[in-house]
Amino acid sequence: MQLRFHNSLTRRAEDFRPIDPAHIRMYVCGPTVYDLAHLGNARPVVVFDVLARLLRRVFPHVTYARNITDVDDKINARARESGEPIGAITARTTADFHADMRALNALDPDVEPTATGHIPEMIALCEKLIARGHAYAAEGHVLFSVGSFPEYGKLSGRSPEDLLAGARIDVAPYKRDAGDFVLWKPSDTETPGWDSPWGRGRPGWHIECSAMSWKHLGEVFDIHGGGHDLIFPHHENEVAQSVCAHGTQTMARYWLHNGMLLVDGEKMSKSLGNFLTVRDILARGPWAGEAFRYLLLRTHYRSSLDYSAAALDECKAELDDFYAMLARPAPEARTPRAMVDWVLEPLGDDLNTPLALARLRDLRTLENIANVGGSPAAVHARTPEAWHPVPGEARAAVLEAAQVLGLLWQDPAAWRQGGGDADVDAAIAARLAARAAKNWAEADRIRDALKAQDIILEDGPQGTTWRRA
Ligand SMILES: [Zn+2]
Repeated sequence: MQLRFHNSLTRRAEDFRPIDPAHIRMYVCGPTVYDLAHLGNARPVVVFDVLARLLRRVFPHVTYARNITDVDDKINARARESGEPIGAITARTTADFHADMRALNALDPDVEPTATGHIPEMIALCEKLIARGHAYAAEGHVLFSVGSFPEYGKLSGRSPEDLLAGARIDVAPYKRDAGDFVLWKPSDTETPGWDSPWGRGRPGWHIECSAMSWKHLGEVFDIHGGGHDLIFPHHENEVAQSVCAHGTQTMARYWLHNGMLLVDGEKMSKSLGNFLTVRDILARGPWAGEAFRYLLLRTHYRSSLDYSAAALDECKAELDDFYAMLARPAPEARTPRAMVDWVLEPLGDDLNTPLALARLRDLRTLENIANVGGSPAAVHARTPEAWHPVPGEARAAVLEAAQVLGLLWQDPAAWRQGGGDADVDAAIAARLAARAAKNWAEADRIRDALKAQDIILEDGPQGTTWRRA
C-alpha cells in the first residue's frame, strides 16, 4: 500500500518514502501536564493513533514517540496557585491523561519520554548550537540566533517581517535580535532548575522536543505530527534547533498537522463557558469514549471539527447500528481481504478517515442484507465489485478494518446495555421477585422508575434484558 500525506513543509500531498522502510520513526508533541486533557488535546492523540496503527499494518517496525512536557512555566504557575508540589501535579495529570486517552482506545506510544528525563540531552544541544554559532549565552540565558539560520520561517511560511511583528512583544535586553528565542533560562530558588554551564536553570519548551526526538528517533526521522496551532513558533523552532545542531538538511521529512476543534461553532474557552474536558464527555456514559473517537474520525484531520452534544449523539447512533449488527449471531466466515483493503485504502490517501468510515458503514449494510434481506444496489454503486457476501463475511471484514481505526473494540452485548450496571441488575431482580409474589403494582413501579432513567426492560424467553433508550 503506497501511503500519501499532505506535508506541511512543502504544502502539498506527497508519496510517503521512508528513510528506512524496515523502521518507521514518528514523533508527536504530547501534553504539558498541569491540567485535565480538553477536547482539543484529544484530537492529535486519536488522529496520530490511527496513523500509527496504519503504519504498523504497512511496515514491519514502527517507533512512535510522544513526549510528556513535565517542566514548564504553566506547571510552575499552577503549583504556586494551588500549593500542590510540582511532582504531585505532573504525576497525577500524567496518570489522568493516560486514563482518558485509553478510554478513547488510543494505544500507548512506543516511547513516552519526559522532559525532566532528558535535561543532559537539552544541555548538549545548547552546547552544540553555541559551538556552531547558532546560539549564544547571555545573563544566564541561552538564545537561538534566528539570523544565523536563513531557512527560518520555511515550515510556517512566515516572512521575516511577520516574524519580527510577532516577536516585538518579546523584546528583552539580553537578546541580540528581537526574534531570537530562549533555549535555556535561569531559575530562582523557588523554581525547578538544573545545573548547567550557564548556571542553574531550566529548558525552554521548544528545545525539549528537539532533545527527546533526537534521543529516541535520531537526527532525522520520518514523520513529525501535532496540532496546527503548534506550527509557529513551536515546530518552526524545533526545526531550527535540530537542523542547526546536527548540520542536517531537515529534522523530519513529513510534517502532519491536525486542524482545530471548535465547540458549538466557537473556539473553546473558559470565558465562553464551552470548555469541555475529555472527562466531561466520558461522564455521559460507557458509550461516550467510543462515540467521541468516532466523532473525531468522521471529519478529515486537517479540517476544523465542530463538537456538539447532538453530533456526539449521532455518532452513538452510528455505533448502535454497528453493535446491533455485531450482536446478531453469525456463522464463522473467512475474512474477505478485498473488503478490508477497500475500507482501509482511503487511509493511505492522507488519512481520509471519513471515507473509510463511510465504507465501513457500507459493509455493515452488506452484512445486514446478507442476514435479513434487502437490495444491495446502493452499496454496489459505490463498491468496486458487486459483492454478495455470505452471512459473517462482511462482519469479519468490518471487525478487522475497524481495528485500524481503533473502533468497535467493545463487547456488543455490553454496548447494548451501555456497560454493566449493578444497580440496574438489582432493580431487575427486585422486579422479578415482585412479579413472583404477584405484586404487579410494585413490578410496574420498578419498570417505570428504570424507564425514567432511560433504561428499557425487555422480557423474553431467556429472562429480562435491558438496554439504554
Ligand atoms: Zn513539540
